[in-house]
Amino acid sequence: MKKILLFLLLAVIVLVAVLVVKTSSFKSKQIAPADGKRKELPVDESAVKHLSDAIKINTTSFDDTTIVNQLEFDSFFTFLKTEYAPVFQNLEDTIINQRSLLLKWKGKNETAKPVILYAHLDVVPIEETTKAKWTHEPFSGEVADGFIWGRGAMDDKGSLISIFEALKRLQTKNFTPERTIYFAFGSDEEIGGKKGAAMIADYLRAQKISFEFYMDEGGMVSEGIVPNIKRPVALIGTAEKGYVTIELTANVKGGHSSHPPKESAVDVITSAIKKLHNNPEQARTVETVNEFLEFVGPEMPQPIKIAFANRWFFRSFILKEYEKSDEGRALLRTTEVATVINVGVKENVIPSLVTAKVNFRVLNDETTKDVIERATKTINDTLVKITVGELYEPSRNSSSSTYGFKLLQQTTAEVFPDAIVTPFLMLGSTDSKHFQDITENTYRFFPVRMNSDLLGTIHGINERIGVKDYMETISFYETMLSKLK
Ligand SMILES: [Zn+2]
Repeated sequence: MKKILLFLLLAVIVLVAVLVVKTSSFKSKQIAPADGKRKELPVDESAVKHLSDAIKINTTSFDDTTIVNQLEFDSFFTFLKTEYAPVFQNLEDTIINQRSLLLKWKGKNETAKPVILYAHLDVVPIEETTKAKWTHEPFSGEVADGFIWGRGAMDDKGSLISIFEALKRLQTKNFTPERTIYFAFGSDEEIGGKKGAAMIADYLRAQKISFEFYMDEGGMVSEGIVPNIKRPVALIGTAEKGYVTIELTANVKGGHSSHPPKESAVDVITSAIKKLHNNPEQARTVETVNEFLEFVGPEMPQPIKIAFANRWFFRSFILKEYEKSDEGRALLRTTEVATVINVGVKENVIPSLVTAKVNFRVLNDETTKDVIERATKTINDTLVKITVGELYEPSRNSSSSTYGFKLLQQTTAEVFPDAIVTPFLMLGSTDSKHFQDITENTYRFFPVRMNSDLLGTIHGINERIGVKDYMETISFYETMLSKLK
């Protein structure tokens, strides 16, 4: 008995010693300590007006791809060429497939690999039923209460116009970049990017250009979003999840609802959806999420930091923390959700044909093929026909030790001295998927402060960007471009 107690005591001492050593060697991965104060940047009124005017031009993308408002895109290009005339004088511009734009800024060093900055020109539609809930008209671009209001203020005209403002500032300073920089602006990100980003990528591929890195929208300087961290966290998307939609169809004899069959088409489909829903994947952390934990862990207060430094021991505790939120759960597995069900014409008629769409967001350690096979096995019903719709494979993980990532980290430390920086797994999809094979390094980051209130306005009601926040975004691009060696 004594021996067992002694052994247990020894085990506890060893465990505590390992925890302490691991915690003390769990060092911050920040370039500069994030203890600075937010910078007070002067408000540039002409930049504010430019974003406001850009919002007024309605470049909505519709799921029905036959609706294209070419005139709006033409007037957007006229607006850019008029307001940023010096930019167009010094950079080479190419219109791709009528509605996308590519600018090339030739650098001094022609042997250095170029980089590419991307933003999309289009916005999502306004839901008719929500129109009345907007404080300011969605396409008014109104400037009020310290914000610029309207569809696209954040996603993605806020980023796009900031890039042009930064370019304008650098032109005034007669700045010439060291390496060549491309600026690409696609026309249809919100509906998959096939006519915009994909064609820009084709154009670049045909010229056999390979890029040092590619930067797109994505993570933001989040405030109060990452659990247990009070300071803002700049989330740089180093990977994004994949995407696949399957359509389930059941075709079972219908008829009069007074004498229903044992199982109707509705029963077949709802039970298939239920099976998928009741069989979620096991929680696990992929490479990008492990890196995220390595970056945010050292910035956590004690005793939580001990847990993050010793994830081999506190794994289930950490997973439980992340399981608490929808976003956290989505970081840990491939998710599924039924999004469309088509059924029924009359209350006393049993429908014979039912279809449903289930959308999966695929974690980066598996493929869309794995997901489809698993779904088929889980449903395991010969009455359900499964067809595969839109799909994109998950991206690979871009390194956080490259020149590109470090440049973003350094620029963030300068422009957002109160924020920490971390690699991050993007849950949503961006146009970056079309550029995967022309660069090793893809970073998805929109350098703007974002709290959960503002996050809810993107694709929603009252989309807006803080005037002060917008000044930081411009400053970020200006600083980054001027540092680019
Ligand atoms: Zn977007």
